[in-house]
Amino acid sequence: VKLTELMKERQLLSFELFPPKTDKGMENLPGTIEHLCEFKPEYISVTYGAGGGNVGTNREVCQMVKKAGTVPVTHFTVIKNTKEGIKDQLETYLSEGVDHILALRGDFPRGENSTGGDFNYATDLVKFIRKEFGDKFEIAVAGSPEGHIACRSLDADISVLKMKQDNGADYIMTQLCWDMEQFARWQDKIRKAGVTMPIDVGIMPILDQAATINMALSRNGCVMDRELSRLISKYWIFPNPFDKAPFDDALEQKKEDFKKAGIEYTIKQIDKYRALGVEGIHLYALNKWKDVSEIIKESGMRTLV
Ligand code: FAD
Repeated sequence: VKLTELMKERQLLSFELFPPKTDKGMENLPGTIEHLCEFKPEYISVTYGAGGGNVGTNREVCQMVKKAGTVPVTHFTVIKNTKEGIKDQLETYLSEGVDHILALRGDFPRGENSTGGDFNYATDLVKFIRKEFGDKFEIAVAGSPEGHIACRSLDADISVLKMKQDNGADYIMTQLCWDMEQFARWQDKIRKAGVTMPIDVGIMPILDQAATINMALSRNGCVMDRELSRLISKYWIFPNPFDKAPFDDALEQKKEDFKKAGIEYTIKQIDKYRALGVEGIHLYALNKWKDVSEIIKESGMRTLV
C-alpha cells in the first residue's frame, strides 16, 4: 500500500502506539489494536526508542498491527546506530513485511550532544534508505510547525524539510502543535519553499495534565494556546499534577473533569486541522483505546464499520 496514493483520495486516519515496557502491557496491546482497527485506520505507527533499546518489542508490535489487518509504520532513529546496523535492521523489517518507516534523527540521550552513530541528521537517513533500498520503503519524515526546538530559525528548519523531500522522503508527520495560527503560517511557508509532501498532522489527545505539560515542555518547547492553558489552570491538580501520591475523591473528580474537557478540546483541534485540508490526522493514541475511540466517534471522522 502506498499511503501517499491514498492521501490523494481521502483524509487518512492513523494512530501511534509505543511498545509497552511490561509483559502485561504487551498482552493487552492486541486487544487495544483490535479496538482501534474498528475505525479502519489506514496505518498504525510504532515508536522506536532512541538507541534501539526496544527494537525487539517494536518489531513485535508491528506484527500485531499487521495481524489486525492494517499497515504498520515503524519509527526509526539514527541514535547510536551505525550504517551497517541500520542496514541490518531495515533488512529485517523488510523480511517481516514492514516497508513503511518514519525516518528520524531521534533525541540525543540526556546529557549528550550528538547522535553517537554514523549519521547526524534525519536527512542522512533518508538518503541512505533510498541509496540502499531504492523504493522499497515509503518514507515519512518529521516536520515541526513551530520549528524543531534546536533549530536556528523556522526558515532554516523548513530548508531541512525541503532537503528531506529532495533526498527522497514521501510525506510529513508533524510534531504536536496547538497554535493553529502558527500551523497555518508554517503550512503556507513550506509550500512557498517548494515542499510539496502531504502533511499528516500529529495530534496528542489531551487526557492527563502531567502528560500534556511534560510532552509540551520537557522536550519539544511547544506553545499552548489560550484555551488549553485555561483548561489546565481551571482543573489544576493541586498542589502538583506530577504527584503520583494517591488522590482523594475530589482530586480524582477533577482529573476526570479535566479529561472530559480535554477530549472536547482535542475534537475541536481535529475539526480545525481537517478544515485546513491536511492529508491525514495522526492521533498519538498513547496505547489507550477507550478515550481515543470517543474522540474519533465524536469528531465524525469515521463511524464504526
Ligand atoms: P532532524 O530533521 O535531523 O532535525 C534535528 C535538528 O537538526 C533540527 O533543529 C534541524 O533543523 C537540524 N538539521 C536537520 N538536518 C540538518 C542538516 N542536514 N544540516 C543542518 N541542520 C540540520 N523520537 C524517538 O526517539 N523515537 C520515536 O519513535 C519518535 N517518534 C516521533 C514521531 C513524530 C511524529 C515526531 C515529530 C517526532 C518523533 N520523535 C521520536 C522525536 C524526534 O526524534 C525528535 O524530535 C528529534 O529531536 C529530531 O528528529 P528529526 O527527525 O526531526 O531530526
